[in-house]
Amino acid sequence: MQFLYLAPVGLVQTALDGTICMINPVSAQLLMPLSRDGNLTNLFAALEGVAPALRHLCADFLPSQGVVCDGMYIPLSADKGRKSTSKVLSLTVVKLGDTRLMAVLSDVTVQVRRERELKQTDAWLNSILTNITDYAMFRLDGLGRIAVWNESIGRMMGYAPEALVGQPYSIFSPPEATTPEHLLDQLREADENGWSLSEGFRLRADGSQFWGSAMISPLPDQGPSPGDHGEREGLAPAYCLIIRDISDKRDANERQRKATYCDYLTGLANRRAFFEAAELELERRKLSTRPTAMILFDADHFKAVNNRFGHPAGDAVLCHLAAALSATFREVDVVARVGGEEFAVLLPSTDLAGAAAVANRLRTLVETTAVMVDGEPIRYTVSAGVAAMDYSLTGLDGLMRRADQALYAAKARGRNRVDCWTPDRPTYKDHLSGAISAA
Ligand code: GH3
Ligand code: MG
Ligand code: MG
Repeated sequence: MQFLYLAPVGLVQTALDGTICMINPVSAQLLMPLSRDGNLTNLFAALEGVAPALRHLCADFLPSQGVVCDGMYIPLSADKGRKSTSKVLSLTVVKLGDTRLMAVLSDVTVQVRRERELKQTDAWLNSILTNITDYAMFRLDGLGRIAVWNESIGRMMGYAPEALVGQPYSIFSPPEATTPEHLLDQLREADENGWSLSEGFRLRADGSQFWGSAMISPLPDQGPSPGDHGEREGLAPAYCLIIRDISDKRDANERQRKATYCDYLTGLANRRAFFEAAELELERRKLSTRPTAMILFDADHFKAVNNRFGHPAGDAVLCHLAAALSATFREVDVVARVGGEEFAVLLPSTDLAGAAAVANRLRTLVETTAVMVDGEPIRYTVSAGVAAMDYSLTGLDGLMRRADQALYAAKARGRNRVDCWTPDRPTYKDHLSGAISAA
């Protein structure tokens, strides 16, 4: 008891429904600002606005004891994530038995700010040390619309400056390479971290492209946040955007990047690139709720294709499948070869039904196309498993597991088909034990 009272970190003991049984002074101090009515009776209710998933995380944790979450960062943003005002708590929840939870809370604001500052310095140094051919600088308002620019805009991007006033900065990206949500994500990222850096093709006024980096950083204490639609319009611009032409750097780094992130056979992203890109997308998704889906494709009876036509022909078929995937999915989708004849796609801003529809489009395309190898037509099919993020999933692993279960179900139910994961879906284990084939 005395330990609970004197501990330098926040300690809260609750029932499984979050009802607080014991709370020490540090916790009360950390949680009180979150309480709507000044009462601290339930931990989940107190954290509802900043960690809504906590209630479900605890409810879904089935073992009678163990760590429910470990060092979860909870940003308490007084002003929609502006780094100057936001505080960050770290929360660990341990299930002590069938009736009790223990939550450990600490204020990690200073630590998080230091980490961010270090990252920011790194990013700036990196972009300064890059071979810069040219750069264009803009001031954006709180919704990412162009307000002010420097003179190189004409030389570098080919725009007459007047033509740009009020345009979203997405005008500099190829239309397929971004979504409206992504643009706001970058603003939010800049709010959270103090900067947001991305590399990719940029678009000139005449439609030609160059390889550029875009660095966005918030201007201190100005303008509305991305979520404030309109009511604070007319305030001073809120972000600085610098676009640099880094074509030289790209040429030099391209070979290294390919070796690390591209699959040698098909040229698609490899497994490592997929996990890195998908983790980043899921991080971004945490800043704004929106659907995110994953599809796993697996070529059917591929061993038989190899046996019948030879391994090099099998390779040609895999390259055909990779090309079909690239042609079918958008540039914002992350498409990768994650195994021998297995491919994964992560689809931002797409729900389960939407992802299933595209998966089916690809399945049909493969089914109806013959691959010509040495004058001989080879026909093959693919199966797909589709899953979407929901509140009960916290990361990529869970999403991938579900897509995998759906894929196995598609295989078990005859192949050349697309199956979606649903909570009542039988698992592959059921399949092995005959439950699916008997159904
Ligand atoms: P299923 O419909 O159940 O997926 O049957 P499958 O034969 O496709 O599945 P299985 O996992 O048994 O075999 C996968 C085959 O894919 C075996 C392997 O030789 C082949 N494969 C994996 N990587 C490559 C590759 O890079 N090139 C070629 N040609 N074949 C590959
Ligand atoms: Mg396979
Ligand atoms: Mg296969």
